[in-house]
Amino acid sequence: MTHLEIGDLIGYGAVKQVYQTTWHNTTVAVVYVNNRDYINDFLHGLEMLKALGPNKYIVQLIGFCLKDKVYLIEYHPLGNSVHVDEIFIKNNIYDIKKRFNLCVDYVRILEFLHNSPGGKRVMCDSNSLNKTLEQYLITSSLSLILNDVDALPEVGHEGIICGHRELQGSFIAPEQKWPYPTHSYQEDRMPPYDEKVDIWKIPPVCNYFLGKSEAAKVFRYHLHPIHRKCREKYAVHRPSAREVLNFYEKLLQEYFVDKFTLTREEL
Ligand code: ADP
Ligand code: MG
Ligand code: MG
Repeated sequence: MTHLEIGDLIGYGAVKQVYQTTWHNTTVAVVYVNNRDYINDFLHGLEMLKALGPNKYIVQLIGFCLKDKVYLIEYHPLGNSVHVDEIFIKNNIYDIKKRFNLCVDYVRILEFLHNSPGGKRVMCDSNSLNKTLEQYLITSSLSLILNDVDALPEVGHEGIICGHRELQGSFIAPEQKWPYPTHSYQEDRMPPYDEKVDIWKIPPVCNYFLGKSEAAKVFRYHLHPIHRKCREKYAVHRPSAREVLNFYEKLLQEYFVDKFTLTREEL
């Protein structure tokens, strides 16, 4: 890959630097490690792209060179999902259904990860709303795909712990918080948890996708029953991604009945 002409920096995080480049007359994204300390995360991310893809949920891997620690993926010019408001306003889209489709895609991705060919995977790099949104890209057809697969531990029988440090903040699930406030954090004493931490985070992510319009406020009311269950304090009481998806898909079919059909039924 040494012959690639590196273009503009598209984005970066703790683990990766992503640039535009041209390959076979197509604009693609070239991914390098940003910080040598995270080389294992970088390589794990590449392994996950290979193990889980190709499919419609995850960014498409085009090629890689292990020797140079670099890989190519599809380029998505609309960028990550933090920019959802800008993207919809710029394209003059005020349709709440299109925004809700991002929620549906998001839960489809979680459902895929929780039942993936590589086992039950948890989206660990999601300790704040912004961090979570940065891991997903919006495609030109306004669907959501997962881009950052560096931190997807597998929930075995014993559960998982995300990262090696104490997690804090209002976004993480209750069971991700250190439960012994009188003692300082010790990783080996932290009780493990499972994929239900992803379920806890669904309502704020979906609400962000819906935005702050009047239509979004009305629509959110219809999501309340399932979102309330996602926020159950005890993880076992939360629904599975499949159950949330079933609720979302039913709503998608029933709520957005077009006017013409309604009129005919009324006649
Ligand atoms: P890190 O693992 O370091 O967090 P990410 O994979 O999350 O890196 O990428 C960082 C940012 O780069 C993303 O939030 C997004 O804005 C941008 N980016 C990454 N890959 C692409 C891509 N294929 N197309 C467009 N933008 C991308
Ligand atoms: Mg990232
Ligand atoms: Mg990452």
